Amino acid sequence: MVLLVPRLQLLYRSYLTSLTIPKMATNGDAVNGHKDDLSTLSNGVALTDRLRVRPTLTNGAGGDEKFTFSKEPTLEEVRRLQAEFTDERDWNQFHQPRNLLLALVGEVGEVSELFQWRGEVAEGLPGWTDSEREHLGQELSDVLIYLVELAEKCHVDLPQAVLRKMALNRLKYPASKVQGSSKKYTEYKD
Ligand SMILES: [Mg+2]
Repeated sequence: MVLLVPRLQLLYRSYLTSLTIPKMATNGDAVNGHKDDLSTLSNGVALTDRLRVRPTLTNGAGGDEKFTFSKEPTLEEVRRLQAEFTDERDWNQFHQPRNLLLALVGEVGEVSELFQWRGEVAEGLPGWTDSEREHLGQELSDVLIYLVELAEKCHVDLPQAVLRKMALNRLKYPASKVQGSSKKYTEYKD
């Protein structure tokens, strides 16, 4: 437990520099908000460079490189960090499930804006600048943070719910039956 505290503090500092929730569901000016927060917290150091999203690549079974996530933070750590963030600001009075859902949808819209008018985008986002990748990482993080908090406030144990849902998906879409097809499960015949 003692060792856990410094690690959580480090995670929390990283979290603060990457989060955009100046007000509940009103972070439409996300880019400017981030710049202000980052310049304040970085004390003149180019923190945006250190925080820039970089892909993690590992060797896949076939020898080709595959993208993977870092092992931390876990969803529970994200939940805990966000709970601390809202508690410190007395924002729980605003963070009821419906408000969180609306905030989540708003953040999905902000992700959509980054893809809008580009045409199809290939895996790995070839041609995107570091700044665009960083912005995408921030908006995807906003989505995840609100999703985790929504699940918390609805008392849905999200990691376990994901496992159950994926088991259901496997039953609905047996690999032997749906190989290479994008049909909905109701369209398959035995
Ligand atoms: Mg945002």
